[in-house]
Amino acid sequence: MNLSIKNFTIGIFLLLIIGLYAVFINYFFSQRELTARVITRSITNDLSELSYILSKHVRKEPITTSRALLDRTAANSIYVKAISIFDDDKLLLTTDPKYLTALNSNEVFKATQNKIHKELLTKIGFEADIHYYVGKNQRSYTLIFYIDHHTINENFEHAREKFFLLFVFLPIILILLFWLAIRRFIAIPLELLRQYSYYQSQIPYPFKIKELEYIRSSMVQTFLRLEQERADLYNLSRTDTLSGLANRNHLQERVEHIIEQSKRNKKSFALLFLDLDHFKSVNDSLGHDIGDELLKNIAHTIQDILRANDVVARIGGDEFIIVLTDFKDEIELIEIITRIQNRLMKPWVIKTFPINISSSIGITLYPKDGENLLTLMKNADIAMYEAKEKGRRGYHFFTEELNRKTQKIIELTNSMSDALNNNHYELFYQAQNSVLTNEIIGAEALIRWKDPEKGLIPPFLFIPIAEQNGFIVELGKWVLETAIKQKKAWEDQGIDIKLAINVAAKQMKEKDFVHDLEFLLNQYQVNANNIFLEITEYIFLHNNSSVHKTFSEIKKLGVQISLDDFGTGYSSLSYLKKFPIDVLKIDKTFLDDYNSEEGSVFIETIINMAQTLKLQVVAEGVETKEQVQYLKEKHCDVYQGYICSKPVPIKEFNTLYKQKKSAP
Ligand code: C2E
Ligand code: CA
Ligand code: CA
Repeated sequence: MNLSIKNFTIGIFLLLIIGLYAVFINYFFSQRELTARVITRSITNDLSELSYILSKHVRKEPITTSRALLDRTAANSIYVKAISIFDDDKLLLTTDPKYLTALNSNEVFKATQNKIHKELLTKIGFEADIHYYVGKNQRSYTLIFYIDHHTINENFEHAREKFFLLFVFLPIILILLFWLAIRRFIAIPLELLRQYSYYQSQIPYPFKIKELEYIRSSMVQTFLRLEQERADLYNLSRTDTLSGLANRNHLQERVEHIIEQSKRNKKSFALLFLDLDHFKSVNDSLGHDIGDELLKNIAHTIQDILRANDVVARIGGDEFIIVLTDFKDEIELIEIITRIQNRLMKPWVIKTFPINISSSIGITLYPKDGENLLTLMKNADIAMYEAKEKGRRGYHFFTEELNRKTQKIIELTNSMSDALNNNHYELFYQAQNSVLTNEIIGAEALIRWKDPEKGLIPPFLFIPIAEQNGFIVELGKWVLETAIKQKKAWEDQGIDIKLAINVAAKQMKEKDFVHDLEFLLNQYQVNANNIFLEITEYIFLHNNSSVHKTFSEIKKLGVQISLDDFGTGYSSLSYLKKFPIDVLKIDKTFLDDYNSEEGSVFIETIINMAQTLKLQVVAEGVETKEQVQYLKEKHCDVYQGYICSKPVPIKEFNTLYKQKKSAP
């Protein structure tokens, strides 16, 4: 059985009350008997005293002369209404003429039963004998006291009233007060405490009762702490600990809400994907502490620029999502974006280190570019990459065309490695000619992807992707081995020409690169001196000491190093002196410009410098006889270009080589 506090207390009360009242009632009845006994004794005392006096009186004078004595006694006793004296049934004397008959035995109080009270109220009178002597014979009169029921009753009624007042009315009031107190000080606070423990609604007010108050206050403290911990956990699950900005979870919530509103108001909003440019180099050069501090500062700055309704979240290392809800048109949107980007470009000073940083932003608009957070983010990411491609520190809107381009990239990414397994790559060879004699003195190996469905895929479409996703390492190994195998085949035919092989920076930075190269050279036993690894200036972007080591090891194997696309990248001329480089390849863009002043100054400077540093110069992208003539005048060593041949399959190259050999 389940008891509520209320039922339990009521039960206890009832038990208490029943018990108490049993005692009270018992007391009441015994008290009443006691009173009856006292009254009875008082009457019998009076009666026996009077009968004694009268017995003496009768000896001297006739009984009828005692009238005054009877009257006095009757008047003095409050419980006696009248007194009569009978000689058998004959009335001799009475104080009240109403009482003329003697009593039969049923009407006389005998005090034999226990319940005197009842007898006192039902019997009519008390009886006693007055003895006297006639000669030697004892005779007697009967003395009767008539009971004054009215007075006696009054007595008991009075007691009853008092009892009722003391034992009924007062206890009820007391119980009521007690009940109210229990309710007020225990039941209600306890109920509030129970509700608090369930719903943590209002904090219950303190108990007046010390022990309960201890329980209450420790409960309140526990729940407050739990509540705080819950709130902390909730916030933690929604904020990015580093920056204090919203995290992905919170972003999801906010954007869902914004989408609901936008649907209702038929309004658009913008979701921006902001990525810091070259943030990694801050981390690499100044350490993660500075990087983290910079991120914190950037987070606060972005938040300051935006309005309260806008959302900023950090979703990855240096990636932020910004949701702008409040702008008139695209012009205003661009204004806000420019403000953010300009503010971030102002020089930062973090722990005394000056830092310059820029950002790239991709923009998507709801609902045009996506109807949920995931699509909007994905497309904003695509647009952000485009902004980076376009030279960073800019922004780009998402477009369907961009999407198609990205899809294509994804498609290529996915089929790239399958193509290697299916033997769909091929090396083409482009002749390198001596400027002086015009004969073919070497070749550059250039990769082609021959897809059975898409046809020939040029390297500029997939090499940058492969560099980004790392597949270039595996592909580069294949190129290196295929090219060296070809070199061996030529040597077997008695042809020892130079062979230039393109190597991506990422590939050369692999720790096994030199080891693999050495292994191939040993395996195919080719003339390493005629092998040229073409590398672009990007290799110098990070950690130059390890690059220097790799270059030296390559040189130790006898292999030569060409600096490709020279002049287009991060050329620092000091590299040419510091690093063991053998060949400079002048990029096609300069050759295109050879007859403008700027172009020719550049080419001449490179050639002169190369001569001083004892480097060979190869001019790339030579398409006209005039260009060859020009190079001859400037004493350039080697040229390469369509004027002689495009990159061609090996068979074609071999044919070309033999043709030229016989008739240069
Ligand atoms: P690159 O190393 O600068 O190669 C020279 C590019 O210029 C080649 O393009 C070549 O076909 C092109 N070219 C040569 N002469 C002329 C000319 O007279 N006129 C014009 N318009 N173009 C000329 P390709 O074969 O499309 O290769 C593009 C780039 O792809 C290469 O630039 C190189 O960076 C990369 N690449 C090609 N094969 C490989 C490879 O096996 N490994 C690596 N890592 N990259 C490669
Ligand atoms: Ca090249
Ligand atoms: Ca080049």
